[in-house]
Amino acid sequence: LSACGSSGTDDASAGSGGSTGGSDGGGSDTPQVGVILPDTESSARWESFDQPLLQQAFDDAGVNAVIQNAQGDASTMQTIADQMITQGVAVLAIVNLDSDSGAAIEAKAKQAGVQTIDYDRLTLGGSADYYVSFDNTKVGELQGQGLAQCLGDQPADIVYLDGSPTDNNATLFADGAHSVLDPMTQYTVVGEQAVPDWDNQQAATIFEQMLTQAGTINGVLAANDGLGNAAISILAKNGLNGQVPVTGQDATVQGLQNILAGDQCMTVYKAVTKEAQGLADTAIALINGEEPETTGTVRDDTGDRDVASILLEPQAIFRDNVKDVVDDGFVTADELCTEK
Ligand code: BGC
Repeated sequence: LSACGSSGTDDASAGSGGSTGGSDGGGSDTPQVGVILPDTESSARWESFDQPLLQQAFDDAGVNAVIQNAQGDASTMQTIADQMITQGVAVLAIVNLDSDSGAAIEAKAKQAGVQTIDYDRLTLGGSADYYVSFDNTKVGELQGQGLAQCLGDQPADIVYLDGSPTDNNATLFADGAHSVLDPMTQYTVVGEQAVPDWDNQQAATIFEQMLTQAGTINGVLAANDGLGNAAISILAKNGLNGQVPVTGQDATVQGLQNILAGDQCMTVYKAVTKEAQGLADTAIALINGEEPETTGTVRDDTGDRDVASILLEPQAIFRDNVKDVVDDGFVTADELCTEK
């Protein structure tokens, strides 16, 4: 990649973002906190970033935390939650796979006297005591603005590849993007589809059908880097990659490489280091019987309640500021330039 040299020249020291993570942070064998991540396929973030960064945040605080992954299966998540409760955790945090199963897990935990936190995804109709995430509507707005920036003022036919219909964040991302792009009358929406479970292979199939049906697609609002890469793979099959701007999210190595290669317009960087720290701080406050610090509340209409929340700020990343993500220690220049 020719752009690697220019994007990552001075940064041999990046990458202290914490891919290590010791095994037991706490003094005792009883885990104090349980965290359940959703899957490994919908985004590289859960395995590559959240898992090690959460482990590090809890280790640094000397808190014994168990972090597991439900591998995309809601009943597996319930089983893991049950085990964690039996093990004696005081706090349970989940990234739900859908709101109904998440709400069931939270209700059961509550019955057992375990406090719960929604991590990244709000559980609609749930009973989590706190919610730690990013401003997800803002994520969608950045994607909409990014696509508009890459497309410019020319008339363009655009499509949306939205995230999983069971993920409240996906709704917020799409709402945010539409709020920016719908008033821009030079753009015509020629397709929009939600991708079940954020499945990248299904996204490729869906996008290929959209392309066949529409004939021409000038821009793709893809809700994350994985969906964006799926669209790029189909564009490449048709010799169109690099000519059609595609958005993304998560600042994954693959997404950033696609940006450097000129195949992707932008991604949204969410500093998972801060999100992981926010979860650790919240959980630790709860363990200590203190009131966690929050930035406000988030509305859950289904549950008719306002959830005390920490919401962090996302950042748009284009080719000219990929370096910000490297400087932040999230990825290394080496990863961007060698791994493919
Ligand atoms: C997260 C995104 C992620 C997606 C798929 C969303 O809830 O906010 O960062 O890309 O799920 O895992």
